[in-house]
Amino acid sequence: MARSVDVMTTQPVTTIDHWISGARVPGASGRTAPVHDPATGRRTGVVPLASSSEVDAAVKTASAAARDWRTSSLSKRAAVLFAFRELLHTRTDELAAIVTAEHGKVLSDAVGEIARGLENVEFATGVPQLLKGGFSEQAASGVDVYSIRQPLGVVAGITPFNFPVMVPLWMCANAIACGNAFVLKPSEKDPSASLFLAELWKEAGLPDGVFTVVHGDKEAVDALLDHDEIAAVSFVGSTPIAKYIYERGTANGKRVQALGGAKNHALVLPDADIDMAADAIVSAAYGAAGERCMALSVAVAVGGVGDDLVSAISARLPKLTVGPGADAGTDMGPLITREHRDKVAGYVAAGAEAGATVVVDGRDQDVPQDGFFLGMTLLDDVTPDMTVYRDEIFGPVLSVVRVDSYDEGLALINRNQYANGTAIFTRDGGAARRFQNEVEVGMVGINVPIPVPVAYYSFGGWKDSLFGDTHMYGPEGISFYTRGKVVTQRWPDPATSSVDLGFPRTR
Ligand code: NAD
Repeated sequence: MARSVDVMTTQPVTTIDHWISGARVPGASGRTAPVHDPATGRRTGVVPLASSSEVDAAVKTASAAARDWRTSSLSKRAAVLFAFRELLHTRTDELAAIVTAEHGKVLSDAVGEIARGLENVEFATGVPQLLKGGFSEQAASGVDVYSIRQPLGVVAGITPFNFPVMVPLWMCANAIACGNAFVLKPSEKDPSASLFLAELWKEAGLPDGVFTVVHGDKEAVDALLDHDEIAAVSFVGSTPIAKYIYERGTANGKRVQALGGAKNHALVLPDADIDMAADAIVSAAYGAAGERCMALSVAVAVGGVGDDLVSAISARLPKLTVGPGADAGTDMGPLITREHRDKVAGYVAAGAEAGATVVVDGRDQDVPQDGFFLGMTLLDDVTPDMTVYRDEIFGPVLSVVRVDSYDEGLALINRNQYANGTAIFTRDGGAARRFQNEVEVGMVGINVPIPVPVAYYSFGGWKDSLFGDTHMYGPEGISFYTRGKVVTQRWPDPATSSVDLGFPRTR
């Protein structure tokens, strides 16, 4: 990591490195991207964009490391994971500060993301139990059958900007526990957290080359997707890129799980506790400035609940503070880039133009002028034909759609192209149970606004929110990062041996 000075501002700029073979390695392609502090708009870093030959060199070192790591004992792997867990825990505040400085989210939210990532490390410490196979004695006379799970080799993770710690941990903890080497291509918008993780892995005793970081853009991603020595790719990001990753990766014979974008609906039934629903929806719509794949961006108000819900939500917004994520007392930080902020503001304008009622306009709010800030917007009377409804906005914009009945609300949710998460707010257990059964969405909350599964379940949406058939982390993560093998054995008395051309039968 080198430091230089921005000639325009005379402020220091950090040159971020790759992490290869257990050490920082400067980029050599000559191509770079700027990294900003979204709270000030200032360029604070420069990240190298790897060429395909740099990716190739990194994957080769990972490949060599994978050959040894796959032979490490399960207890050795568990010991490294326990040590990594302790380091992550004790150094959470430092890591959270890095996340806030490049992503912009408030510190408590960064701490929360690390805690949810850490759960995955804790899950992976159970690898001796998780990799246990089955054993059937006497499957046929004198024959036993058992199953084992083996690592794939080198696996890659390509991750989004919005969770620079949690999403890499969703992937690498299980991948490494299963005996693979893991190559991370983090978002180029907030790349520094990945290097902090790399240093913690090293300190925890992980052999060099088992965890690698290559920074980059499409060129680096394509090099990973095309590389013969990459066996599997985990991706989290927007839907068009997820689809591309899935198609190119699988065309190259790789295992791919590609999680995409979202448009998460909250269905609010007439019997819901309105204050509780409003608290939950405000938290889930505007937390992290709406830049969460599990953000609730549409509230579907059923029957006569709309007026009360809109007034309860709008009453809460003036009490929330928008400002730098590092400042105590800030509830919501800036958006990731200036372009994204302007795009989100454009959606608000388009919603108003299309006839939505702008109850609270984030563009008018008093927010810090430096940086990429936008206030919270609440749109009422949104209809499914409007772009604010159709598109994933990924910003602090909540749309309220009014429907007459539960059935109409359910049909609306089930028609949506995205199906990552959803939530129902009600006091009627029967209605909630019916919703859980009938809604076509991968993760469902019942009076829970952000139903991100705990680490011992798996995370994934349906439809355009996931390409591939394996959800991420938890039991499906273990299965994704290993190949099953079934062994049939017998130890017969050679004296009983004979030739038999018939197909072997078990009875
Ligand atoms: P993104 O799709 O722009 O980028 C994700 C990754 O893909 C990054 O590493 C980026 O460098 C790479 N990438 C970008 N363009 C590429 C291209 N043309 N070819 C190859 N690689 C490319 O997503 P983002 O803006 O970083 O993150 C926000 C998106 O991620 C939102 O859509 C959000 O819903 C989604 N997301 C989904 C989940 C989930 O679990 N489903 C979780 C977090 C974020």
